[in-house]
Amino acid sequence: MTIRENLLTIGERIRTAEQRFQRPAGSVQLLAVSKMHPASAIRQALAGGQILFGENYVQEMVEKAHELLGYGIEWHFIGPIQSNKTRQIAATARWVHSVDRFKIAQRLSEQKPDNTPDINLCLQVNISNENNKSGVAPHELAELAEQVAALPGLRLRGLMAIPAPEHDFGRQRAVFAQVRELQEQLITQGFALDTLSMGMTDDMEAAIAEGATLVRIGTAIFGTRH
Ligand SMILES: *Cc1c(COP(=O)(O)O)cnc(C)c1O
Repeated sequence: MTIRENLLTIGERIRTAEQRFQRPAGSVQLLAVSKMHPASAIRQALAGGQILFGENYVQEMVEKAHELLGYGIEWHFIGPIQSNKTRQIAATARWVHSVDRFKIAQRLSEQKPDNTPDINLCLQVNISNENNKSGVAPHELAELAEQVAALPGLRLRGLMAIPAPEHDFGRQRAVFAQVRELQEQLITQGFALDTLSMGMTDDMEAAIAEGATLVRIGTAIFGTRH
């Protein structure tokens, strides 16, 4: 299968899940996770109409963004963030999904170049995954949201989660439901959030069932990473 064919297949999977779980048509966006795949693979996805790309490593994102200037790519940073890398992220990414502490948001806010649009942010929540050190604990989420929402140059859009791998559909759904409930609590508290970044190649349907607005798909588009 080519990358273009894979994109068509994923588009079908998304549309089918939207219908099956009574989600409005077109309410789930596809983020193509291109980490560890070359710029040539991204070019093939671009030819298939894909515009949103996600990267996990700052250096790799910056190099690809440089090589692919002029294609109108919207870069999403989705990996762990070291504070000494925030300037490069702020200069390249339109979205950052993996903010889990105030210091990082503060640096992104300060370092965003002038005359560029606000950076769209999701707060990464540590849900179900004790092995994953990334992500804010659910009981600290509201306080972090409040601090981040007050920063200039950033727009808090929603939550991101990477649950522990789980094969059972019902259990996948139960974890994504917890993320949705956290988002609903924040909305009740007055935050204007519209984005739930959740679902990868193996749990995308469960995430869509629980309200994902953006699924992050790598393997099903670009193949196995080496
Ligand atoms: C690698 C990665 C993905 C894509 O995972 P696949 O299983 O290849 O679809 C999604 N989100 C994050 C945060 C990732 O690091």
